[in-house]
Amino acid sequence: MVDPTSDLDEDVDESNAPRCAVCDRPLVRDPGHRVVTWIDDGRVETAHFCGASCRESWSES
Ligand SMILES: [Zn+2]
Repeated sequence: MVDPTSDLDEDVDESNAPRCAVCDRPLVRDPGHRVVTWIDDGRVETAHFCGASCRESWSES
């Protein structure tokens, strides 16, 4: 679990953290955090995931 009161050395909290594209969980120093980027119509798109299981369920849909 992440203790939000101990994040003084990090500039990320739940209000500005990326969220998992599948389960919408805020990713605050999440050890399973994965990022996927791709080019869509000339723009760089980014998706964040909290772990491999969400990453896989996203790519299957
Ligand atoms: Zn997730």
